[in-house]
Amino acid sequence: MTTMNLPLISTCSVSGCSYNHDHDCHAAAITITGATSSCGTYVEEAAKAGIDTTGQVGACHRSECVHNSALECSAQSVEIGPGADVADCLTYSAG
Ligand code: SF4
Repeated sequence: MTTMNLPLISTCSVSGCSYNHDHDCHAAAITITGATSSCGTYVEEAAKAGIDTTGQVGACHRSECVHNSALECSAQSVEIGPGADVADCLTYSAG
């Protein structure tokens, strides 16, 4: 896998995050962490931040997810939104 084909973040409904612009994530690469598949890149700041293009999943610590391979996500795209935490991977599947 190269950084050119990392999974796209198809939508993110966490509008309070700095990287969120109109339900699109604009962090270059996010990391999914923790016991609840939370987005470790979420940050609540007043100022908007990030890059011009849609963000991707750079790494994921949820090794038990069906889409996880060697701590990377192999899904085509993922959806991020409120779950157990303020920002979680909603594409997570324990299989
Ligand atoms: S779909 Fe699974 S492997 Fe991909 S980012 Fe979400 S929790 Fe991680």
